[in-house]
Amino acid sequence: MSKVAHYLQEHLLGEVTASPEIRRHFSYDASILRLVPSIVVYPRNEGDVRKTARFSWQLARRGRILPITARGGGSNTSGSAIGSGILLVFTAHMNKILMLDAKKEFIVVEPGATYDKLEQILYTHGLFLPPYPGSQHYATIGGGIATNAIGEKSVKYGTTGQHVEKLRVVLANGEVIETGPLSKRELNRKLGLATFEGEVYRGIDALLEENSELIERERQRVKALRNAMGYNLFDIKSKKTFDLTPLFIGSQGTLGIITEATLEVVVHNPITSMAVLSLIDLNDLQHILPEVLKLKPSIFDMVNKAAIDLVLEINPNQLSDVLDNPKAAIHLFIEFDDPKEGDKKKALKKLQKIARKVDSTFHSTKHPEEMERYWKIRHSVGSILTQPQGQSKAVPVAEDICVPVSSLVEFLHRATEIYESNGLAAAAWGHAGDGVVRMQPMLDLGQVGDRQKLFKVSEAIYEVVKDLDGSITAAAGDGRIRAPYTAMVYSPEFYALMLKVKKIFDPYGTLNPGVKTASADEVKALMRGEYNLAHHHEHLPRS
Ligand SMILES: Cc1cc2nc3c(=O)[nH]c(=O)nc-3n(C[C@H](O)[C@H](O)[C@H](O)COP(=O)(O)OP(=O)(O)OC[C@H]3O[C@@H](n4cnc5c(N)ncnc54)[C@H](O)[C@@H]3O)c2cc1C
Repeated sequence: MSKVAHYLQEHLLGEVTASPEIRRHFSYDASILRLVPSIVVYPRNEGDVRKTARFSWQLARRGRILPITARGGGSNTSGSAIGSGILLVFTAHMNKILMLDAKKEFIVVEPGATYDKLEQILYTHGLFLPPYPGSQHYATIGGGIATNAIGEKSVKYGTTGQHVEKLRVVLANGEVIETGPLSKRELNRKLGLATFEGEVYRGIDALLEENSELIERERQRVKALRNAMGYNLFDIKSKKTFDLTPLFIGSQGTLGIITEATLEVVVHNPITSMAVLSLIDLNDLQHILPEVLKLKPSIFDMVNKAAIDLVLEINPNQLSDVLDNPKAAIHLFIEFDDPKEGDKKKALKKLQKIARKVDSTFHSTKHPEEMERYWKIRHSVGSILTQPQGQSKAVPVAEDICVPVSSLVEFLHRATEIYESNGLAAAAWGHAGDGVVRMQPMLDLGQVGDRQKLFKVSEAIYEVVKDLDGSITAAAGDGRIRAPYTAMVYSPEFYALMLKVKKIFDPYGTLNPGVKTASADEVKALMRGEYNLAHHHEHLPRS
C-alpha cells in the first residue's frame, strides 16, 4: 500500500485500498473510456469524505494534485465516474435511507442508495421518486443528482434534480455546506462568512450579477426540455431566493461531493392504462405529438423500425407473440396514471381518436398481463445494448440527445441519414414526449476505422443537434466524452463562464478534473479498445 493510502487508512473509518485488482475494476464506468485510480476509498460517513477532501486540498496547496472522484454505481456513460486519484465509492456504506416522512412526502438519503432501494421502501408507503433511470437497479441517488438523471416518467414528473429540495455537500477544502433556497437576508449572511463557503457565495453572486445578460441569452439558446450540458447557471437566482442546489445538480462531482440529499417524493398510482400506437409514416409523429402531450401521459416513449429490425436480427423470435406491425416506422408507448379510472378511460379514448387521423395500428389496455406484453416491445432494445454483433457492440456515443419536441421528427430523419451513410443501422428509441433520443452505433472499438467512425458520427449528430437548438446531453452529462463539444453548442463566452464557476469551487482542480473540460485529444488517449459493462458486478468490501 502506498504511503498516502496508509495515511488515509489511519485517519478514516472506511476502508482504503490500493489493490491492483480493485483499482482495475474501478478503472471502468459505463463509458468507452478507462482511467485507473491510484486509491479506492469506501467512506463510512460524511467525516470520511471531509477528511479525504481536506487531505487532497492540503496536498494541492503544497503543489501535489491528487484528485477525488465521487462514484455511485459507475453506470454513467460520459466517462465521469473514473479518475486518476482517489475514488470515493459510496455504494459500500453511505447507502442508507436516513428519514422518510410519508405525510409530508419527502425522504432524506445518503448518496450511495440506489433508485431501486428507494423504490422498494417508497412503494410500501404508496409513494415513489418518479425520474428513475433505466439503470435504476445500480444507479445511485448521488450519481442521479450529479447527472440530473431522467427516466420514462420524466415526461410528466420532470428530472431527478426537480425533486431535490436540499443537499449536504462537502466542498473542495473539506468544509460542509447545506444548500437550499436562501432569502436575501440569509444570502447576505453567507456573503459575509470568512470561510471558503463565503468565498464561494461571493464568487457566484458576483459572477451572476456581472453576466446576467449573457446567461439570459444562453438560457434561450438551448430549447431542449432536458439539458445536462455544463453548469446550470439559470436557476440559482429567482426574484426572492438564491439557491446553489441547481449548480450541484448535473455538476458530475466537479464542484463538490454530495453526502446527503432531501428529495420530494410523490404519490404513486400502480394502476395504469397504456396504449401502443404504431405509425406507418414517421412524419405523422410530428402531427400527433402535441395532441398526445395535451393528454398528460405518464410515459410517452418510442422505438423506431430500425431498432425493431436490429432486435429481430439478434433474436428472430423475441417479439413473435407481440409485434403485429413490424413495418411501422415508429412504435409509441403511452401510459396514463391518473388516479381516477374515468380520466384514464377518457385519455385512451382521445388517444384512439388521434390515432384514427393517421395511418396506424392502435392497441390499448388496462390489464397488467397485456401491458407487460406490450412493454416487451419497448424493452426489447435491451438486446441491442447487451448482445454483440460479431466483434461490434452498441457503444454509448452521442446516445443522450434532446431536441425540442417540435424538431423530433426532423432530427430522426437527419440522424438516420448520418447513420446509414456510415453503413450503420439507425436504431433509435427514447422518450418521444421529452424529445430525448437514444442511439448507440454498433462498432468494434478494436478497429481503427470504427474508432474514427465513432467521432465522425457523433460530430455530425452534434451539428444537427446544434442546428435544431437541442442539447448534446439530456441527462448523462457532458462528462469527458462530450466536453469538447459543449463549447460548440453554448457560446465560447458562456463556456468561459463555466470554467470560472469551476475555479470558484475548485481552485486547485482536485474535484474530478477533466470532467466537463476534457479536450478531444485527452478523450482519445483514454479510449478503451473493447467495450462491455462487466464492471457492474459488485466490488465492495465485505462488512
Ligand atoms: C444500461 C444503461 C441505462 C441507462 N439509462 C439511463 C436513463 O434512463 N436515464 C439517465 O438519466 N441515465 C441513464 N443511464 C446513465 C446512468 O445510469 C446515469 O447517469 C446515472 O444517474 C448514474 O448513476 P450512478 O450511481 O451509476 O453514478 P456514477 O456513474 O457512479 O457517477 C455519475 C457522476 O456522478 C458523480 N457522482 C456520483 N456520486 C456523487 C456524489 N455523491 N457527489 C457528487 N458527485 C457524485 C460522479 O463523479 C460522476 O460524475 C444509463 C446507463 C446505462 C449503462
